[in-house]
Amino acid sequence: MNQIIDPFNRRITYLRVSVTDHCNYRCHYCRDEDHQTHTKKSQVLTFEEIAKIVRLFAELGVTKVRLTGGEPLLRKDILDLTKMLGEIPGLTDIPLSTNAHLLPGLASKLKNNGINRANISIDSLDPVRFKEITRDGDLDRVIKGIDAAISVGIKPIKLNMVVMKGINDDEIESMTEFAINRGLDLRFIETMPIGLAGIEAVDRHYSERDILSRVRASYGDKLLPIQSKQTDGPAKAFKIEGTQTSIGTISAVSNNFCSSCNRVRLTAKGELILCLGQKDSVSLRDALRSGMSDSKMKQLILDAITKKPEKHFFDSVIDNISSRQMVEMGG
Ligand code: SAM
Repeated sequence: MNQIIDPFNRRITYLRVSVTDHCNYRCHYCRDEDHQTHTKKSQVLTFEEIAKIVRLFAELGVTKVRLTGGEPLLRKDILDLTKMLGEIPGLTDIPLSTNAHLLPGLASKLKNNGINRANISIDSLDPVRFKEITRDGDLDRVIKGIDAAISVGIKPIKLNMVVMKGINDDEIESMTEFAINRGLDLRFIETMPIGLAGIEAVDRHYSERDILSRVRASYGDKLLPIQSKQTDGPAKAFKIEGTQTSIGTISAVSNNFCSSCNRVRLTAKGELILCLGQKDSVSLRDALRSGMSDSKMKQLILDAITKKPEKHFFDSVIDNISSRQMVEMGG
């Protein structure tokens, strides 16, 4: 019992842990306009509980744990958690996903506490547009956060840009230049129909095909395909010859990549989510708080995995679709 294999023979090696469902940004594709987070402290996993659950996953063969949210840097004393996770045997990769707003003050401490790489969300380089997309975010702070992360040596840093037709699709080239100039990687993300906000955002769908044809128009024969590692995300990626930058797309809608899915998600409230697109979940928090033994907890995880669906059904209507907002699931 030291591996998690789902019914479709996929090995689960990657756990995304949302450490809080609060966020200081309100990106309109991620949460509904009137969505409020009312989660109480007692409902949220403590750091000791997160570390315990992560250790069980590591004993079951998980090697990569991403800290996400909400905005993970809002969680007070997050550095204590990164330190605790850094001590768990078997974990080889503990990246962070952040909007970078709080990175200016935290980058160096994060680096000293085991965060060696990060994904940073940035959807526009125009301050007014950035404010609109994030509902009041501060582009200047985010760029300062990116530069702070670069200066302390967090590497690689991957920028994530959700591309939306008529909103920011005219920035594909300028975002690529921004990434190249700073030696960063860049992924263009298709909007996913998660929650009402995401479903509305699908009207703004800008396809992988269109994104790549724009990138090819600028960099054509300089794009060298990259072979991805098993724990890597579902991105299709290319190195841009003569630069430090790789560029890619994450296209959950155009391109159902579920056959290589290697991940599950743990929400801040301790629910284990098996697939972004479906509502099935199991409360690991309740099991842990009931005093369940480690071996029973592991069995609970393995039993949950039997419910992991073969694929999401973003392109059709089914009963089991998740009504959670992305901000609650960690992306
Ligand atoms: N606050 C952190 C951040 O900004 O990266 C972590 C949480 S955020 C939910 C994680 C990722 O999910 C971000 O890159 C965000 O752009 C992406 N995301 C949120 N809603 C999405 C949607 N409907 N479709 C595609 N990506 C989405």
